[in-house]
Amino acid sequence: MKVHVVGAGLAGLSAAVKLAEAGHAVELSEAAAQAGGRCRSYFDPQLGAVIDNGNHLVMSGNRAVYDYLSVIGAQDRLAGPDEAKFDFVDLATNERWQIHPNLGPVPWWVTAPRRRVPGTRAADYLALAGLLQPKAGQRVDQAIHCEGPVWRRLMEPFLLAALNTTPEIGSASLAAAVVRETLAKGGRAYRPRIAEPTLAAAFVDPALAYLESKGAIVRFSRRLRSIAFEGDRLSGLTFADGEIAVGPDEAVVLATPPWVAGELVPDLSVPDAFCAIVNGHFLAKSPPGASAIIGVIGGTVEWIFTFEDRISVTISGADHLVDLDRAVLARRMWDEVASVLGLTAALPPWQVVKEKRATFAATVEQDAKRPPARTRWSNLVLAGDWTQTGLPATIEGAVRSGFQAAALASTPQAR
Ligand SMILES: Cc1cc2nc3c(=O)[nH]c(=O)nc-3n(C[C@H](O)[C@H](O)[C@H](O)COP(=O)(O)OP(=O)(O)OC[C@H]3O[C@@H](n4cnc5c(N)ncnc54)[C@H](O)[C@@H]3O)c2cc1C
Repeated sequence: MKVHVVGAGLAGLSAAVKLAEAGHAVELSEAAAQAGGRCRSYFDPQLGAVIDNGNHLVMSGNRAVYDYLSVIGAQDRLAGPDEAKFDFVDLATNERWQIHPNLGPVPWWVTAPRRRVPGTRAADYLALAGLLQPKAGQRVDQAIHCEGPVWRRLMEPFLLAALNTTPEIGSASLAAAVVRETLAKGGRAYRPRIAEPTLAAAFVDPALAYLESKGAIVRFSRRLRSIAFEGDRLSGLTFADGEIAVGPDEAVVLATPPWVAGELVPDLSVPDAFCAIVNGHFLAKSPPGASAIIGVIGGTVEWIFTFEDRISVTISGADHLVDLDRAVLARRMWDEVASVLGLTAALPPWQVVKEKRATFAATVEQDAKRPPARTRWSNLVLAGDWTQTGLPATIEGAVRSGFQAAALASTPQAR
C-alpha cells in the first residue's frame, strides 16, 4: 500500500523507515529544505562549521533509538563510555565529583561514597523510590521530596534534562517513565550516548539514504496546507505545490509539530505550552582529557559537551533566557565553560541557538492534552514526540511514535 508521511523530523523519518522496511510505497513530504526537524545539523556561517541545533543526549537503553539506527545502518554513530559515568562540577563551591552507577539493576553504587553525590548517604537515595509508581495526576514534588543534595546534585539536573520543564512542577508519571527505563534498570541502560560527529550523520542522513534505497520519494520545501476529509476517511492533501487525492488503499501519517497538527486536523487536542532550550556553540579545543559531558550545578550552563573542535553548552527549561541578548548569553556561558575546563582563552567564535518551542511542557496538564496516534479517520494516524507516548518529548518518544504510526497506518483499520 502507499503511505504519505508528512513531516521529516525523527517521528516522520522513523515511520517512513519502518513502512519502507515492510515494503510499502512511501512518500515523505517536509516543509523545510532539510530533514531532522528539532534534531538537525546545518552549516553555520558564523562558525564556518557544521553544528547541531542543540546537543542531544540519548541513553544506551533507548531501545527504539537503537532499533531505528540498526534498520538504517547507523548503530556505530553514537559514541559514549562503556560504563554509566557522569562528571559534575558545582560552580558555587568548585567541588567536582563523578556519579558512577554500577551496570546491573541492584544499585549498590549508592553505598560507595566515591560513586555517589558527595555529602549524601545511601539511605538518601531510598527516598527516590516514590518516583517509581506515582499516583495519577501527581507532580514530581508531590511524589518525592525535592530538597537536599541528592535532589539538587542528581535528580534535579537529570529530570530537568529529561523533562525540559522545571522538575518540581513536572508530571511525576512522565518522570517515572524515564526513571523506570533508565535509573531503575541499572547503569547498563543509561550509559550516555551522543551522535558522532553530528546529529544528521547519526539520525538523518542514513535514514534518507535508506529511504532512497527502498525507492521512497522524499520531497523537501513541501508544506502541507490543508487536509480534506470524506466521511470517516481522509481523502486529500493540499500541499504548497498542489493538491493530491488520497485513495481508498492509502494512508497518511501526520508527523508535524503539535501546533501545525492542531490547525490541520479538526477538533484535535494538542499540547499548547512549550519550554525553551538554549544552546551555545564555541569554536574552541577542549583541554586534553576533558570529559565528553559535564553536568554543571549552580550556574547558567547546565551541561557542557566537548567535541574535537568545539565546545557546546545546553540549558534546558530556558524560557528565562530566550529574550536575553545573544552576545550577553555567549559571554556568560563562556565564562562558566572556561572556569569548569580551566581555560584562559578569550571568548572564541560562538553561536547561540534558541529553540523557543523545543518541547511541550512536561506538566500534568499538558500531558493530558496529548492525543493517541489513532484518529477518528480510518486512514489518518499521528506521530510526534507530543502524541501520547507515555514519555516526555525525547528522541526515544519520537521514534516510538513513528514506529507505532507505521504499524497503525499499514493495518486494515487504517484504510
Ligand atoms: C535544542 C533541543 C535539544 C534537545 N535535546 C534532546 C536530548 O538531549 N535528548 C532527547 O531525547 N531529545 C532532545 N530534544 C527533543 C527531540 O529533538 C525531539 O523530541 C524530536 O526531535 C522530535 O521529533 P518529531 O519528529 O516529533 O518533531 P519535529 O522534529 O518537530 O518534526 C516535525 C517536522 O514537521 C515539519 N513540518 C512542520 N509543518 C509542516 C507542514 N505543514 N508540512 C510538512 N512538514 C511540516 C517540520 O519542519 C519538522 O521537520 C531536544 C530538542 C531540542 C529542540
